[in-house]
Amino acid sequence: MPKQTSVLLIYTGGTIGMIQDIKTGQLRPFDFAHLTEQIPELKKFDIRLSAISFDKPIDSSDMSPDVWLKIAKIIESNYSRHDGFVILHGSDTMAFTASALSFMLQNLQKPVILTGSQLPIGIIRTDGKENLITAIEIAAAKHKGKPVVQEVCIYFEYRLYRGNRTHKVNAEHFNAFQSPNYPVLAEAGVHLNYNSAALFRPAKSKLKIFTSLNADIAILKLFPGITPNAVNAILNTKALKAVILETFGAGNCSTQAWFLDALKSAAKKGILILNITQCNAGSVEQGKYETSAGLESIGVISGADMTTEAAVAKLMFVLGNFKTAKEIRKQMKVSLRGEMTLAADRFKSKEF
Ligand code: ASP
Repeated sequence: MPKQTSVLLIYTGGTIGMIQDIKTGQLRPFDFAHLTEQIPELKKFDIRLSAISFDKPIDSSDMSPDVWLKIAKIIESNYSRHDGFVILHGSDTMAFTASALSFMLQNLQKPVILTGSQLPIGIIRTDGKENLITAIEIAAAKHKGKPVVQEVCIYFEYRLYRGNRTHKVNAEHFNAFQSPNYPVLAEAGVHLNYNSAALFRPAKSKLKIFTSLNADIAILKLFPGITPNAVNAILNTKALKAVILETFGAGNCSTQAWFLDALKSAAKKGILILNITQCNAGSVEQGKYETSAGLESIGVISGADMTTEAAVAKLMFVLGNFKTAKEIRKQMKVSLRGEMTLAADRFKSKEF
C-alpha cells in the first residue's frame, strides 16, 4: 500500500485561528488540538494531518526574526517525516515571513504554504476554511511521486503565489494579496491549475537552514519635501549595515546635492544602499532617468523588481550569513530564490 501523504500544520496565530467566545463575544485563539471540530471537512481528506501550535499564538504584527527562526527549525526537525507544510499565520506580515523562510530554507524540495484569513475560522462567512483546505491540498500535491510545489508560497483566496513576490494589498477584501511582478503559481477553481513553468525548482541537494539573520537595517521612504534631518537621522542610525531606499517610479530620487552627499557619506561608511521602487509593480532601472544616474556612481545597488518585504528579508539573510562587503553585494545582485527578475530575463521574455 502506498504511504499516506502527510502534512504538518504549524499554527503561529492570526485571525484564522480565532473563534468568538459565546459568552463575551470576544475573539480568542481556539485550541488547535480540536481543529477538526471547527473544520469537519478535514476528516474527509486522505491525508495524514499533524499539527504543532505555538504555546502563545501571536498576532503577526508581533512577528520577528526570532520567530522566523523558530518556524524554520520546526520545519527542519520535521522535514523527513512530512510531505508538505502549512503555516497558519496572520495576513498582516505574512509576505515578510514567507520571504524570510524562502531565504532561510535553501534547497527546499517540499511545499511550505502559508495561509490565513481575513475573518476568523469560527465566523460563518469565514474565508479561512477554503484557504486552509486548499493550502493542505497543495501541500500534499504530487506529480510522478514528487511534490508539485517545492518552494515557500502564500495561498489566499483561490490563488497560490510565490511567497517572496507578494504584498498584502487589501485590509478588507478576501482577495488580500498580489504578486505584481511574478505570475500566479496556481489557481483554484473546479480544478487546481498549476502554472508549471512558473514554479521554482531548487538544486537537488539536502535542505540547509540558515539561522543567522542581521536586522541592522532601515527603510528610507522618499517623499517630496523630505528634510535633511529625517534623511540623516535614518542614515546615522547606530550599527546600521544597510538601508532600503524606497524611491519613486523606476528608481528615481531627488538630485539635490545635500541628498546625494548624505547617501555618499553613508556608502563611504560601508552602509549598503538598496534601491527599491515605491510602486506596486515594475522595476528599478538605475540610470534610465537623470534622477537615478547619480545613484549608480555612489554604489547604490538596484533591487530590480523586488518587493520591500523580500528586500527586508534578503538583506537580513545576506548580512547574517556572508562576511565580506564584496560577497554581500554579489548576493544582493543575484536572484537567490526567484525573488527578483534580472534585467536580462525581463527583456528575454518580451517579443518586439
Ligand atoms: N492582525 C492579524 C494578523 O496579522 C490579521 C490577520 O490575521 O489577517 O495577525
